[in-house]
Amino acid sequence: MQFQQKAGVRRGGQHPTKYIFVTGGVVSSIGKGLAAASLGALLETRGLRVSMTKMDPYINVDPGTMSPFQHGEVFVTDDGAETDLDLGHYQRFTRANLAKRNSFTTGQVYDTVINRERRGDYLGGTVQVIPHITDQIKANIVHSSEGADVSIVEVGGTIGDIESLPFLEAIRQFRNDVGKENSLFIHVTLVPYIRAAGELKTKPTQHSVKELRSIGIQPDILICRADQPMSQDVREKISLFCNLDRECVFEALDVDNIYKMPIIYHEQGLDARIAEHLGIWTAQPNLEEWNRIIERLEKPRHSLRVGVVGKYLGVRDSYKSLYEALTHGGIANEASIEIVGLDSEQISAANASETLGDFDAIIVPGGFGDRGVLGKMSAIQFARENKVPFLGICLGMQLSCLEYARNVLKIADANSEEFDPQSRNKVIHLMESQQNVERKGGSMRLGAYDCIVRRTTNAYTAYAADRISERHRHRYEFNPEFRSRFEDSGFLVSGESPDGTLAEMMELSGHPWFMGCQFHPELKSRPTQPHPLFRELISAAVKRKQLRD
Ligand code: GLN
Repeated sequence: MQFQQKAGVRRGGQHPTKYIFVTGGVVSSIGKGLAAASLGALLETRGLRVSMTKMDPYINVDPGTMSPFQHGEVFVTDDGAETDLDLGHYQRFTRANLAKRNSFTTGQVYDTVINRERRGDYLGGTVQVIPHITDQIKANIVHSSEGADVSIVEVGGTIGDIESLPFLEAIRQFRNDVGKENSLFIHVTLVPYIRAAGELKTKPTQHSVKELRSIGIQPDILICRADQPMSQDVREKISLFCNLDRECVFEALDVDNIYKMPIIYHEQGLDARIAEHLGIWTAQPNLEEWNRIIERLEKPRHSLRVGVVGKYLGVRDSYKSLYEALTHGGIANEASIEIVGLDSEQISAANASETLGDFDAIIVPGGFGDRGVLGKMSAIQFARENKVPFLGICLGMQLSCLEYARNVLKIADANSEEFDPQSRNKVIHLMESQQNVERKGGSMRLGAYDCIVRRTTNAYTAYAADRISERHRHRYEFNPEFRSRFEDSGFLVSGESPDGTLAEMMELSGHPWFMGCQFHPELKSRPTQPHPLFRELISAAVKRKQLRD
């Protein structure tokens, strides 16, 4: 199928979708994702329906097969897509509906086109990057934007990379297809401060824009990440060399709190400028909700330290959603949270109380493989025995079952099939649906599943609902053969799949807050709606701290 020019874009109708394309220049990790998400938040405060999409230039079909060391966290959508962590920013800042269609890679686009070619859809033709790959990219953009007033599309990678060229060519064509009044190019760049010269340097930005223009894209708006406030002179220089109005050069200084960004952008007039360019007429934004969040973050009544016992600690982005969800739990409880990453390989039964004694709550997050699991189990034992509020997520829940089986139920060789396939006591075993899986990509138990919450448990106190839905990403599960032994001694299944076969939440009775969940609650937490499990974990930590002080 060729991209139908203007098809899917309600041009000329009453209410066409407007497209904002966000690119990044000079260096990677410049914060395009956050900029795009903040912009989405800001446009929503004007009452607009926003969709958010990430296009990634790598060849992997999705990031599910990449290590967190390589790519940071994998974000999972309700419909089971394993996506880029920028979708996590979109989730936290906006109400956009995120699904498979909102994240795609070069690998996925080629996969679709090659499958079509094999089927014979292009018989007689030579299949080429232009138009076939670019048409497919444009079709994906239209599909991901359905129903939105404004569609924000972020292009992964940095201008100048070979890999992102087809995406840039596609968005260049897109503007021709939908018209200038329906599309906007935002380029996020760096304006570094050079200490020896004592000034901000605009040259890298000039070069990046030059590169963009050489492929036919003139940015309409620049968002400049700067170490220092930009003077009028600097703005004028950028405006002159990059060929855009001074009012279109925006500044993004480092912030101590990312949730300030929508307001900072608004104060500089970014939303007004965008609305003007795209001909969108809306009321002034209502920033009340964002102001409230900031006030709570800036005036905490409590301060807590939370230990996260993991292994992907060198890369902060590996636990991105988790760290944010903890902050949200703090917002709900007027607490500031100091998050301390602890290397599980450095923790043992012998040093647990020394290493973990100062924390108000302990978390063991998700993970794969057996490296560091003994350290994680020592941390879990410490939290269980000392009544420290604890949350075990996915692998964290599985390890809390192993720790309990070994140390309380005295099943000395209790293990997970993941670590020892020959174990005689597989307290955690491979799910039936996973037994014949041969292809590793996209084959875990992924996405949203319903869970029935048991009344009179801490889980029920948190959710106040009988049926909930949470997102999963795992292959192994609690082995129901052991369920009665666990429950008889006080480790309860407090949430289960609707057919009663899978343990989705497990908690210890007689402990103020010791919760394991097989799903990833951090993926659904928002500053505006802190996730119940994080809210209650932090609430338990606040109570404990007050008693101790
Ligand atoms: N490795 C475990 C499994 O596959 C846990 C996965 C996770 O923590 N996301 O079941």
